[in-house]
Amino acid sequence: MIEVKNLSKIYPNGTVGLDDVNVTIQNGEFVCVIGLSGAGKSTFLRCINRLNDATSGQILIDGDDIAFASGPRLRQLRRRIGFVFQQFNLSTRLSAMENVLSGRLGYHNRFSGVLGLFTAEDRRIAETALTRVGLADRMNVRVDQLSGGQQQRVAIARAVAQQPTLILADEPMASLDPKLSNVIMGILKEFNKDGISVLVNIHVLELALQYADRILGFNKGKLVFDGPPSALSQDE
Ligand code: ADP
Ligand code: ADP
Repeated sequence: MIEVKNLSKIYPNGTVGLDDVNVTIQNGEFVCVIGLSGAGKSTFLRCINRLNDATSGQILIDGDDIAFASGPRLRQLRRRIGFVFQQFNLSTRLSAMENVLSGRLGYHNRFSGVLGLFTAEDRRIAETALTRVGLADRMNVRVDQLSGGQQQRVAIARAVAQQPTLILADEPMASLDPKLSNVIMGILKEFNKDGISVLVNIHVLELALQYADRILGFNKGKLVFDGPPSALSQDE
């Protein structure tokens, strides 16, 4: 369960990123975050896994506050959260498998990756994740040889291989052909069925209406809508 309490983010230049956001996400929910460009969607996701530091408030991940955690405790909490970026953020010269493994290792032992000391268990989990995103036959291909859609699937596999309780995806389709949107959302939905909570920032309302159990709407840093897709359609 993710509990966000009185979360605010003021950037150093004074821009309000988030303004007193309160929301609780239950385990296993599939949540789409919508709003105009600049509304605070990205800041919201980035504060949850501490890519951004909040200015004030609490973010409880299964009861543990990540908002102001530091050191080993922060690393441990971040391990419970997989992050999928708009621009994939993969190491393009490494293989799909190496990217997924490095995601697993990044959080507990950076050096074992350098030394090639992956455990059999790490490999098994990485293989399973890559297979589930449909890349069983591309595991050892260098990422720069893969299409954009395949690269984003590697990034999702990397997030899943961390065995997170929550996956955050920040506009994961934005740099892909729109035809791939349903593929990416479908894959996220499959992992969600296993019980992983999913929060996706999305600017195409139709996709949010189609996939979300729940929609969060942001405007100027404030949470202005929180409800099921049906409630949003009635509003309009
Ligand atoms: P969205 O993801 O909904 O497009 P963002 O979270 O990226 O919105 O941005 C929310 C607000 O914070 C915007 O006004 C944006 O310009 C501002 N912002 C985002 N990142 C920074 C930053 N690093 N420094 C200053 N302002 C920022
Ligand atoms: P998004 O696609 O999430 O809306 P943007 O394209 O607005 O993100 O921003 C890209 C990058 O620039 C992000 O790292 C964001 O934090 C930063 N950024 C956005 N707005 C500002 C701003 N007003 N001042 C400084 N940095 C910003």
